[in-house]
Amino acid sequence: MSSSAPKVGFISLGCPKALVDSERIITQLRVEGYGIVPSYEEADLVVVNTCGFIDEAKAESLNAIGEAIQENGKVVVTGCLGVKADDIRALHPQVLSITGPQAYEQVVGAVRTHLPQIKAHDPYTSLVPPQGIKLTPRHYAYVKISEGCNHRCSFCIIPSMRGDLVSRPVGEVMDEAQGLVESGVKELLIISQDTSAYGVDLKYKLDFWGGRPMKTRMRELCSGLGELGVWVRLHYVYPYPHVDQVIPLMAEGKVLPYLDVPFQHASPRILKLMRRPAAAENNLARIRAWRAICPDITLRSTFIVGFPGETEQDFQILLEFLEQAQLDRVGCFAYSPVQGAAANSLADPVPEEIKHQRHQVFMETQARISAQRLQDKVGRMVEVLVDQVDEHGAVGRSHADAPEIDGQVYLDDGDGIAVGDLVHVQVTEADEHDLYGHLIR
Ligand code: SF4
Repeated sequence: MSSSAPKVGFISLGCPKALVDSERIITQLRVEGYGIVPSYEEADLVVVNTCGFIDEAKAESLNAIGEAIQENGKVVVTGCLGVKADDIRALHPQVLSITGPQAYEQVVGAVRTHLPQIKAHDPYTSLVPPQGIKLTPRHYAYVKISEGCNHRCSFCIIPSMRGDLVSRPVGEVMDEAQGLVESGVKELLIISQDTSAYGVDLKYKLDFWGGRPMKTRMRELCSGLGELGVWVRLHYVYPYPHVDQVIPLMAEGKVLPYLDVPFQHASPRILKLMRRPAAAENNLARIRAWRAICPDITLRSTFIVGFPGETEQDFQILLEFLEQAQLDRVGCFAYSPVQGAAANSLADPVPEEIKHQRHQVFMETQARISAQRLQDKVGRMVEVLVDQVDEHGAVGRSHADAPEIDGQVYLDDGDGIAVGDLVHVQVTEADEHDLYGHLIR
């Protein structure tokens, strides 16, 4: 956690169900960049998750709220006692917000309101969808495994805001993931600024999970998560050689055959100007090797076009890379300066008009490639996690689709299936983004 991150203290009272709520809220706050601290003095705000089951629990909760107000002053209340908001306000009118149990979104919303982050919206490095995270549906959850970043990409201000990489010990991450699975989560989305660097700062320290020794390292983490029996999806992985060790876990079905690798460019000259990690790696060779081990792997990436100094030749190298790499899902931004970023002082900015032309050509090229790759799935059977069911059918996602950013699978029949179910689907049609099919019963 960087010293500039706003910090939240958390008091969790009550039964195991309340504890699950607390874990969900803490996971969420961490994903959004808040630090979680164990004392009133360190906290900028305190969340009290209350219990109101019996009079004794109610009194304990009211006392805890009073103590938090006295010791810290900024208090958000949630949990079972929250349904009796008038009783709480009568004793503690200073409380900032009150909600009942499982009101994840509202609690996180109250923290955002009363403890706003210095938000630098950075489309190149945002870890979560720009509209924020919905905590419903609740069958998938983001798990943040580290904070900060050791790289210094010239277009990025994350390291100056969040500091160097700080990995969470693997036992703590595994406990959190296990708690989420026990509370009904069917898909874990692993995020950080640089997932492939996990544990570097801790020198891959040995930790424990359920009494078992485990190293704080990407491969061991993936292998442990693979034992939880749910979908595990990896985001923000750089193409370092050691990432190759994770691909067999994908081939074995332990983690989803899906890698989100933000390549950002393909011209070595531009990658150098961008100061990108793994800039010297031969990415095409790496992609081929991954596909040789796990032919079904879905590769997602993001790119920036129109970076300062990008020539027509650099852009052609990028287009050629797209043709060769045959990535499945791709996002692309036309470069725009971010306040405080080193790239702002680079020579030869690309004129706006050319930037936008290149963006268009890039998108058209990739749309054709993505559409063809989806078309190749017609006639195949895919496993789908159901996100939505209504009278018209159901909508879900396959291994190849991360929520919000990738495509969906539309089913013409939703009878007898529920949100969070895993089903098998025969693909009958595809367009540029999505698949369509029938449920195999
Ligand atoms: S890897 Fe680069 S773009 Fe990503 S957070 Fe670190 S410095 Fe920023």
